[in-house]
Amino acid sequence: MNDGLEQFEFASLITAHDDGNYAEAVVPPIFQTSLFTFSNFDDMISAYRGEKVRPIYTRGLNPTVRAFEEMLAKLEGAEDALGFASGMAAISSAILSFVEPGDRIVAVKHVYPDAFRLFGTILKRMKVEVTYVDGRDEEAVAKALPGAKVFYMESPTSWVMEAHNVGSLAELARKHGVVSMIDNSWASPFFQRPITLGVDLVIHSASKYLGGHSDVVAGVVAGSKEMIARLKAEAYPYLGGKLSPFDAWLLIRGLRTLPIRMKAHEAAALTIARRLQELDVVGQVCHPGLANCLPVGLNGTSGLFSFIFREGVDIRAFTDHLKLFKLGVSWGGHESLIVPGEVVLQQKAQPNSAHAFGIHARSVRLHVGLEGTEALWSDLQEAIAVAS
Ligand SMILES: *Cc1c(COP(=O)(O)O)cnc(C)c1O
Repeated sequence: MNDGLEQFEFASLITAHDDGNYAEAVVPPIFQTSLFTFSNFDDMISAYRGEKVRPIYTRGLNPTVRAFEEMLAKLEGAEDALGFASGMAAISSAILSFVEPGDRIVAVKHVYPDAFRLFGTILKRMKVEVTYVDGRDEEAVAKALPGAKVFYMESPTSWVMEAHNVGSLAELARKHGVVSMIDNSWASPFFQRPITLGVDLVIHSASKYLGGHSDVVAGVVAGSKEMIARLKAEAYPYLGGKLSPFDAWLLIRGLRTLPIRMKAHEAAALTIARRLQELDVVGQVCHPGLANCLPVGLNGTSGLFSFIFREGVDIRAFTDHLKLFKLGVSWGGHESLIVPGEVVLQQKAQPNSAHAFGIHARSVRLHVGLEGTEALWSDLQEAIAVAS
């Protein structure tokens, strides 16, 4: 059902967007401008009447941002896409475009913590109720969906990495007339294309793999013309969380190498996850690639996973002894990172709940970067030796 992308197909989808407009530059220029002027009255009035689609003001339309949006739409197999100033701007704009007071949304549990907090604060104040379901339990999902407006998925989920059968969940949502959305940041369009599996809207934190170099915070939503038009009508212009031209340009640069980066993250992280699983000091490794088979439509795995240390390992000593893995949030860049679960559980942000995120106090989350598998494994081994 899912058509995964080969590397050459991927490359073909992000080239030749120029149409000869910019001196056939291989990279689109950065339109670092807030506004675009008109040559005369008639020119201006025809733009205002919408007779001619052209940029007027960058919050509405900017050619560099548009180039990124068109590439991302093609990569996801979607008709259209919209770039946002962050993944959270993308998530909040997508959801707020489809709910009103009294509505209910269904979300899989263990979603990205700030999405959980959006649901528990702003949506709650708007009187939008959220029902959480285990995305692996299709019966529970089918029971929760009737009467809901939005079904919000993330697969694999943050931290505990539960991978869902996205295609059958999307089909259930469609059957009940519920708009389905998925946060696809972890897999990227190289490994998972939810639109081709029947999902209505795909959301990314482009700050992660799409950018890939830890130098941009951005988001994007992709879907049908009709669904994206819904976002364009209100949330995009009026909430105003627009992607900037320079950040769009960085994202286009990042997309060029997405396939080779994803393959490298996948190979290194899988090797390290398998080796960790063999260790006596490790109780559990949460990595979807360790199961016998991946869910239909997930064609590969990325560099982010978590594992749980058994009692007796000093996690503080382990963390502080690491040299290549840096302590830091976020992920998806070139560099390897670690976050101890105990630290996240102490975060002051509300609502906060270990249960809601599934984070075990003795767990650590790793992002396996591009420094080389053996060097990274030695780093982990030395730190484990000191800590146990
Ligand atoms: C980081 C992240 C987000 C939020 O994205 P920002 O660009 O930081 O706003 C959303 N979902 C997931 C899974 C993330 O890891």
